[in-house]
Amino acid sequence: MRETNTIVDVKATIAHTRRISSDVSIITLNCPSIAATAKPGNFVNIKVNDTTQPLLRRPFSIHDVQGTMIEVMVKSVGCGTTLFCNSDEGSTVMVLGPLGNSFDITTEHFNTAVLVSGGIGTAPMLFLEKTLIVKGIKVINLVGVRTNNDLLTQNLSNCRFATDDGSIGLKGTVLDLLQNELTELEKEGPLKIFACGPNPMLKALAKFSQDHQLSCDVSLESVMGCGIGICYGCSVEINAPSGGVKTILLCRQGPVIDAKLLVV
Ligand SMILES: Cc1cc2nc3c(=O)[nH]c(=O)nc-3n(C[C@H](O)[C@H](O)[C@H](O)COP(=O)(O)OP(=O)(O)OC[C@H]3O[C@@H](n4cnc5c(N)ncnc54)[C@H](O)[C@@H]3O)c2cc1C
Repeated sequence: MRETNTIVDVKATIAHTRRISSDVSIITLNCPSIAATAKPGNFVNIKVNDTTQPLLRRPFSIHDVQGTMIEVMVKSVGCGTTLFCNSDEGSTVMVLGPLGNSFDITTEHFNTAVLVSGGIGTAPMLFLEKTLIVKGIKVINLVGVRTNNDLLTQNLSNCRFATDDGSIGLKGTVLDLLQNELTELEKEGPLKIFACGPNPMLKALAKFSQDHQLSCDVSLESVMGCGIGICYGCSVEINAPSGGVKTILLCRQGPVIDAKLLVV
């Protein structure tokens, strides 16, 4: 179900950059071979320039796929992301991917998908939503941000919001929103939750879904070096099915894991 990909490392032209908020851009890259095989939840590891500053690539979820193009949604938080957001259209970057596993969208057990995202965790949700809709699954987005100025949801459908300051939607966290909406959502039929956001949010959501026996996939973040299982920079502990904990490499056995396996 979470099969591995044929990984390629390609020089990709930046076809388009579009700033969608004060610190987030959507960057469109011409990567036919990655676009052809990418699945929702996969990521790419990008060398944002050809100097040694920064030395390492930076990982980004695949935000959307359109023909030969992939899109990434990039929040400027430091050196690599700021350089990338300021890249010129027509310039090139090295793109390694598609990497990691994907969300488990085998649909026997659910007919409604609840996509729960926080902050830049919205990045993988558009590709996921489009893929689910093609499969006939109803999609509802629960989106948590600090304020309505941080919304990154232009292309998502069926969105309900939670904000820290109450400027749009519920005043509270996206988990509060899920708690409020759960009874209504469950009337839609069997649910599955797909989540991406800050790790503390995902831990709280994993505990909630464990307590309520909800099916839930979470896409985790960690600092990542190589993206292909060599540097061991992204090792995390998860619950071992046989009891106790075991270590996995998030770049290969993640970034998506079943919420039941998250140590909460
Ligand atoms: C699988 C995966 C998918 C991701 N998808 C996206 C995405 O779609 N869009 C997006 O904007 N970001 C995404 N990230 C996070 C992104 O990779 C980091 O923000 C980026 O590597 C920071 O690089 P920088 O050079 O700008 O920051 P640096 O200058 O290296 O560091 C600046 C700050 O960012 C923190 N930071 C560095 N790396 C990470 C990281 N991996 N996660 C969280 N904080 C980090 C540092 O601790 C520091 O506080 C993803 C991360 C992973 C692991």
